[in-house]
Amino acid sequence: MKCPECDIKMKLDWKKDNSLTNFFYFCPECDLRSRISIENFLDEQLHQLLGIKAHKLEEGIKKGNIKFYHSLDIPKLQFKKSMGKMEEGTVIYLSNAIEVIRGFPKIRRTLLLSPALEKHFSDYVAIEEKMNGYNVRLACLECSADSKKDLKIIALTRGGFVCPFTTKKAQELMELTDFFNDNPNLVICGEMIGTKNPYVSHYYKEVGDLGFKVFDIRKKISNHPLTLEKKRKLLQKYEIPVVKLYGIFPVEKTSQKIKEIIKQVGEQGREGVVMKDPKMELAPLKYTSSPAHIREIEYAFNFPFDFGRPFLFSRVIREGFQAYELDDSPEEIKQRAHRLGEAIIYPMLKTIKLIAEGKTAVEDTTIKVNNLDEAEEFVRYLQAMGVNAVLVECENGEAIIRRIHQSTNDKITNYLKGGLY
Ligand code: ATP
Ligand code: MG
Repeated sequence: MKCPECDIKMKLDWKKDNSLTNFFYFCPECDLRSRISIENFLDEQLHQLLGIKAHKLEEGIKKGNIKFYHSLDIPKLQFKKSMGKMEEGTVIYLSNAIEVIRGFPKIRRTLLLSPALEKHFSDYVAIEEKMNGYNVRLACLECSADSKKDLKIIALTRGGFVCPFTTKKAQELMELTDFFNDNPNLVICGEMIGTKNPYVSHYYKEVGDLGFKVFDIRKKISNHPLTLEKKRKLLQKYEIPVVKLYGIFPVEKTSQKIKEIIKQVGEQGREGVVMKDPKMELAPLKYTSSPAHIREIEYAFNFPFDFGRPFLFSRVIREGFQAYELDDSPEEIKQRAHRLGEAIIYPMLKTIKLIAEGKTAVEDTTIKVNNLDEAEEFVRYLQAMGVNAVLVECENGEAIIRRIHQSTNDKITNYLKGGLY
């Protein structure tokens, strides 16, 4: 929107109480303040930027597929579901400029390496390690308070929420200011890993408690990824850690290479690999190790009624196809069958016994915090996300957060009392 007096672009006044129906703008030149309506905003600004028709956006807002929030005092639209090209988890900040941070695209899985890889990729395939943590997008927002430029770095989780824990820790772990000062239009996509995080606790010897590994760098608005080479060079320049690259192979050799790598990846307690077109023009594919499937099945069967059936079914299917492609002897197949059976029965039995003794099935995670306020702020954030979590203890810089898996407790209690399935 242009100022009618000075004919220059007006800025959103994010200090004002912007709402879904009204946005407040000011002209940096003559200080004229004005208000535009949501229809105007959707039509003139977002339509041009995203290529989505205003009535579609409006419909999305009405249905609740796009939500409006005030986050960090900045008005924000968040896509709860994908719409057109916009992925779920896309966020649009209405700060000085309109900042579009696209959702991280879903990575499809291959159940069999061959012939899927030959079919999907063209000439060369890069094999990167797949880290087991949680997906984070790091980006900067330019906010100005009283003509002072202020760069705010945020960490978004998969759904597009700003996670206070991750936002703080990412900046403690890495020096990001120079990167974002020089590249405000890029988004760093990476995995937060380690044992002391609230989402996915997994031990990596090279990080221990907490670490971050970048796997993609993408552009704001378009979501175009940088090529593998550009990504690695840029990260090296700013000394930001990147995921391991096993190598780049001709497509016809890739399946064999992964067969060799995946056993070793599994034995080391690591998750798997992601196959990528080095130019990043084709979509990547993922493939994971048997121990990773077993660990997840084991974890989920501790809380069998809180994990959906698709979660469990898909992991069992992965094992079936892997047995077909990778297991060479009847003995190997038998061992796989045993591992799978034990991963289902033992944790479930443990939980049934626990509840029969009158105890509650809970999951405790430890995170590092600087003070009690930080721990409490994070638990409030989890609760706002709909997670049934409480703070158990906060001592010596460590907070224990307890998650209660309600369905598992309720259902098992009911069956123990004679309820029918
Ligand atoms: P999806 O992301 O495909 O929707 P999901 O949430 O279940 O599914 P995963 O099965 O863990 O996630 O697989 C994809 C995720 O793997 C990515 O979203 C990313 O967070 C993570 N990841 C770890 N290492 C890499 C890597 N080298 N390249 C791309 N993604 C990686
Ligand atoms: Mg994962």
